[in-house]
Amino acid sequence: MALAGFCEDKINLLNLDREGIQAFVQKHGGKPFHGRILLKWIHKHGVTDFDAMTDLSRQLRGRLSEVAQIRLPLIVLEQPSLDGTHKWVLELECGNRIETVFIPESGRGTLCVSSQVGCALSCSFCSTARQGFNRNLTSGEILGQLWIAVHQLGKPVTNVVLMGMGEPLANLEAVIAATDIMQDDLAYMLSKYRVTVSTAGLVPALQRLGEVSDVSLAVSLHAPDNALRDQLVPINQKYPLEQLIPACRAYLGKDRRRKVTWEYVMLEGVNDSDHQAKQLIRLLEGTPSKVNLIPFNSFPGGGYRSSSQERIDEFRRRLIRAGIVTLTRKTRGDDIDAACGQLVGRVRDRSRRAANSPFPARVTTP
Ligand code: SAH
Repeated sequence: MALAGFCEDKINLLNLDREGIQAFVQKHGGKPFHGRILLKWIHKHGVTDFDAMTDLSRQLRGRLSEVAQIRLPLIVLEQPSLDGTHKWVLELECGNRIETVFIPESGRGTLCVSSQVGCALSCSFCSTARQGFNRNLTSGEILGQLWIAVHQLGKPVTNVVLMGMGEPLANLEAVIAATDIMQDDLAYMLSKYRVTVSTAGLVPALQRLGEVSDVSLAVSLHAPDNALRDQLVPINQKYPLEQLIPACRAYLGKDRRRKVTWEYVMLEGVNDSDHQAKQLIRLLEGTPSKVNLIPFNSFPGGGYRSSSQERIDEFRRRLIRAGIVTLTRKTRGDDIDAACGQLVGRVRDRSRRAANSPFPARVTTP
């Protein structure tokens, strides 16, 4: 699947949603239903060659191949992990690299997808943050990751989480377009309960997401009070907990089946005390919640240590006793640096944060 021979003047159909593809086909002599057929070929059947789309007329196929392409990110590295996790390093047209991870579990397969090249938020415990930031992914680049997992690896993807590199809500329009296709009957048919956007807490973008989408919501909380969260997740200085929590509650709306998934990375001596468990319980009171405790995954220069298993268990017991559904996330794909917060890709940093950082940026090379 080389990029050679691809002409960037041609429109990349991966970037078009259902309406967009219908309008595009109409513009080039087809009918809207031809657009729907095209969508199905691309996403459901994984076909990228117009000639193979035999239920479109030869004339329309010819016209489409003149003006359009289906351009996928280039796979530069595939790493299967000992535990079945599978990581891809994908190169984009601009030479930047992103990472995508498939995590099999009994009865389901979760794909962890990136939404940006690097990340502009500076969460202190995340290695993606150390890479700096280059740009947003297009919706086609976000979807391309799912396309590759489904049609290249051939594994059933039952869930998608936007928990890879980047802050999805800082790339809202592309994320909305991509998650719409993930849910489309002509494409991946994932229900709203199986597509999850994870955010560090961009409140206005969350409100906008709620107006146009109903994907599931995960929030990187990591601290039970503003003082600590300001340090760990600095975007909290702009959108503190008293704005974030009500915005999450509003996002759930009237759907009683829904809960916010709170991600809470367990950092030894930082956010894992009994007192902090109590504060967390109080903070989440009145919000339908599920807590995911994440053992901290280390990386060079990370500067934190994970809480011990005993501490995590005790923290979890306290939340459960207060009636909060609490899981400890299993660390998966650690041997291939595919665990939470370990995705780094190769980012041509434009924020110059990496250059200013005392920590060397780590680059995954094939
Ligand atoms: N920017 C979004 C999407 C990234 S999701 C967000 O913040 O939610 C990745 C998840 O892994 C987040 O909850 C993040 O806080 C967590 N994470 C980051 N670095 C980590 C590390 N070193 N160990 C464990 N979890 C980490």
